[in-house]
Amino acid sequence: MKLKTKVIAVVNQKGGVGKTTTTLNLGIGLAKRGKKVLLIDCDPQGDLTSSLGYKNKYSLKATLTEAMDDVINGTCMVSEDDIIHHSEGIDLMPANQNLSGMELKLVMVMNREKILKGYVDSLRGLYDYILIDSLPSLGMFSVNALAAADSVIIPVQAQYLAAEDMTQLMQSVMMMRKNINPSLEIEGILMTLVDGRTNMAKEVIKEIREKYGAHIRIFETEIPIGVKASEATAAGKSIYAYDKRCEVAKAYENFTEEVLRDGERTKIQHRTSQCR
Ligand code: ADP
Ligand code: MG
Repeated sequence: MKLKTKVIAVVNQKGGVGKTTTTLNLGIGLAKRGKKVLLIDCDPQGDLTSSLGYKNKYSLKATLTEAMDDVINGTCMVSEDDIIHHSEGIDLMPANQNLSGMELKLVMVMNREKILKGYVDSLRGLYDYILIDSLPSLGMFSVNALAAADSVIIPVQAQYLAAEDMTQLMQSVMMMRKNINPSLEIEGILMTLVDGRTNMAKEVIKEIREKYGAHIRIFETEIPIGVKASEATAAGKSIYAYDKRCEVAKAYENFTEEVLRDGERTKIQHRTSQCR
């Protein structure tokens, strides 16, 4: 039976805001709720790959580099059998440093912004969700991720200037929608690494809810800052496998529930001015 696949890109041009952690724990959260999930590591750093325990990234059978090469060359070197089945119930198309050569290669190929889309579309029908973890830039890989996706989740760290950084990201999403992927939606904004003890965090969250909340879904769940999250990353496990009772695990469980609740999603407003 063919599944109706939803492709979600997790994007933010800033590093260290919880993109990889969110991709991983949302993906495994959805799998725990019975969904068939593929995670795609679209960052040459391969953080998602190592966060899932694959530390020796050069021993991997196939990576996203070869999968994208197939799309460019019209070959079939990578098959569904090359996708990794992880013990926590998700599938993974991993990445390693070789992927950085792909960004250069893309400059010279036709339809360069839709190469990842070519690969992702070939897997539609096999999964309920495909989540794409992107790297911290608004370069060609992020454009590929946004072109391949049906919607985006934007993790935002509750920190000084977070609202300003969002403006640039929103403009990029609007541009993608206008020029490359008209049906791209914003699934929502997720506040991450929230240190509830500080006034700064409270103020930033208030500012973002006021500035964007009327037009874009801001998830009710806020992911607290917690040492267990970074320990889980280092241990190569999800937060549920590492310590399912900790606050971060509970938060990611609630967030997964919110993503599953359909219909609340707000379509991106056409008028960019409202997002400024
Ligand atoms: P990005 O992918 O946006 O660069 P990561 O998900 O890799 O961000 O997170 C950056 C670092 O912060 C990682 O070491 C990760 O383990 C840690 N981290 C992520 N979420 C939390 C959290 N809620 N509390 C504490 N540390 C976190
Ligand atoms: Mg990352």
